[in-house]
Amino acid sequence: MSERPSPPGWVRVPDGEELEAPEEAETARKPGQAPEPDPTAEPAPRPAPGPADVEVSAPCWNCRAPVAPRDARCPSCDRTRTHVLLVCAEPCLELRHGPGPSLHIGRHPDWAPRTAAAFAGWNKISRRHASLTVEPDGSAWVEEPEAGTRNGTYLNGARIAPGVRTPVRDGDQLRLGQRVSFAVGLYGPGPGTG
Ligand SMILES: [Zn+2]
Repeated sequence: MSERPSPPGWVRVPDGEELEAPEEAETARKPGQAPEPDPTAEPAPRPAPGPADVEVSAPCWNCRAPVAPRDARCPSCDRTRTHVLLVCAEPCLELRHGPGPSLHIGRHPDWAPRTAAAFAGWNKISRRHASLTVEPDGSAWVEEPEAGTRNGTYLNGARIAPGVRTPVRDGDQLRLGQRVSFAVGLYGPGPGTG
């Protein structure tokens, strides 16, 4: 780890996080921020559903191996269907996460290895911004670190308290700061639910 204590008399600089203005304020972008999303861009096409009376294998959310509707677990990686899908338009990011260790969202490359690259340069996102946990029963929870974040984490517009596990539901909007917004999809443990 690269964290080291500051020598006496030194003030540690907060890691480059910038405080974010409220939503209705400035819309100008600073250099280095990602450009506006292309309005003509289409979301990735989903595989067309087959006829209802034919058993069609769907790809595993984790390893993409085909999983028959009757199978509760992926024959390749043994994961159940239970997972959360987070889709963000800007930066363009799609995260799938299942039961087990929490998914860390932030700019710290060691703490949040799955998102640090996508948020590099997004100084309104904290290095340790939020964690998403999925339980085996399919319930999902979001939590900010105890220390909190500069620009906040919002669930359906309401800021969540640091250090408190807050339930996330299918169809929720999870927002980090003012601009980075994820659409939340929950996929349950039963067969044929995603
Ligand atoms: Zn799999």
